[in-house]
Formats: sequence, structure tokens, C-alpha cells
Amino acid sequence: MPERSGGLPEYEVIALKYATRAGARPDHFVGGDPHDVPMPMDYYVWVVRDATRLFLIDTGFNADMALKRHRTLLRRPAEALALLGIAPADVREIVITHLHNDHIGTFDEFPAARFHLQDDEMAFATGRYMCCERFNRAYEVEHVAGVIRLAYQDRIDFHRGDAEIAPGLSVHRIGGHTAGLQAVRVHTTRGWVVLASDASHYYEHFENNRCFPLVFHVGEVLEGYARLLALADSPAHVVPGHDPLVMRRYPALSTALAGIAARLDLPPSASSPTPNLPAAGH
Ligand SMILES: [Zn+2]
Repeated sequence: MPERSGGLPEYEVIALKYATRAGARPDHFVGGDPHDVPMPMDYYVWVVRDATRLFLIDTGFNADMALKRHRTLLRRPAEALALLGIAPADVREIVITHLHNDHIGTFDEFPAARFHLQDDEMAFATGRYMCCERFNRAYEVEHVAGVIRLAYQDRIDFHRGDAEIAPGLSVHRIGGHTAGLQAVRVHTTRGWVVLASDASHYYEHFENNRCFPLVFHVGEVLEGYARLLALADSPAHVVPGHDPLVMRRYPALSTALAGIAARLDLPPSASSPTPNLPAAGH
């Protein structure tokens, strides 16, 4: 058992699945993959809460974006939050892991919120590399313009590297996927859980040192895996950002919300080997 950190809040941490898309293994790894088999991608936002505090991690995307980018929106992020009894006006603090469209997309639906963002992400999304389609393709210029407006409204808390945003809750810049992505470390009853977001899209990325093809700096991606593992109490405390296995490994918040809301503050079931591969025959 990890050592308990005395006096820190023990948060409930919930992964909320709001969208999905089809895909195949070669789509998800630099260098491709010899197994050309389906490997769907799920989309999540995350809720961190205790009796007195509530934090939303990322804001997902809306129906227009799902249509434009050929994804299946299962429920709007705000609708997913409503399943937990959370109204948009209840959300006062939002951590944006990075500004890709599937992480910042519905920011304008939370009028009472302040946002936590890394300096490096703001600079990246508004700077020279956005001239390059390879790096701008996952951003939406109207989202980025909206975030600039938030800055002018003094609604963003900018961070540089590591920052504690509440007792038992901190953000940590992990470059690589973008220049300024931040992972989130949360204290729970089972110890320190790390929400990797796109610092590791799937379990396989950090477990096998593989890299997702949408990447700014491969070296920082690989260094990031070591950082995620150092921040977490064990590999089973690292939660990847887009892996359908998250919904299978963690207990559902309730029977009614199985496959929609999972409790990440509770231990996962034992991991299955090579989870996204066919059982045999290769
Ligand atoms: Zn991303």
C-alpha cells in the first residue's frame, strides 16, 4: 500500500466517456503496427471532487465538431456531467490539459469557470508552429481565439511547469504530444492517481514506450512516460487519455452508468495482457 499523505483530501475521480470513434492499430503508433485490427478511440472528460470542491478536467467537443471530424458524440460533455448531478454553473474550476479540439471544445458552456492552462500550451497554440498543418490539425482556430478572449477576461490561471491548484491536486507540464500539455495528479484513498490525458493516449503507449503519431517532440513524449510513472503511486495509478480499457478496468459509478462513468479513485481490475491485440494467430 502506498504511504498515506496525512491531512490531504481524498478525492473522488470520475472518467466520463462522451464520444468514440473507430480506428485501427496502425493509426495509433509511430512506425505503424503489423496488426491491422480495429482499435477504437474513446473520448473522456474527468471530474475530481470531494464534499467541498469540484474540478472539471477538460471540456470535450460538441456535435458540430463530431460531424466535422467524423466522430460519434454519445452525449455532450455537459449532458455527461448532468448524469452526475453537475450543472454547468456548478463548475468553477476547469483544468485544460491542452488546447486540442477534443479537450477544450465546449469551454464556452461554463460561464462561471476559471481555467488552468500551461504557458507553453498558450504560446504553442498561438505561435509559429501553427503555420504548419502537421501541428495545427488538432486545434481549432476558433477555440484558440476563444481562449485568448478568456485571457483578456482574466479567467485563466496560467502555470509554468508544476503547480498545486488545490490541496492534493496538481498539474504537471509534460511536453511531447504538444508543447504545453499538462497531466493532473490527484490524491485519493488509493494514493496518487495521475490523469495522463494525451501524454499517453492508450495504456500501450506508456507501458511499451510507443508513441502516438500526432506528436510535436518524440523525445519529450518518451520522457513523459517516466514522469507519469514517477508522479503516480504505481503503473496502475496512471490513467491514459483515450483508452476504451479505462471503462472496462475501473468500477462503474453506478449500474446505470456502466460504460459511461468510472471511478478512478478505486483500484482497477488486474490488467489483461496485450489488451488491444487479437488473442492468437500472429
Ligand atoms: Zn491531443
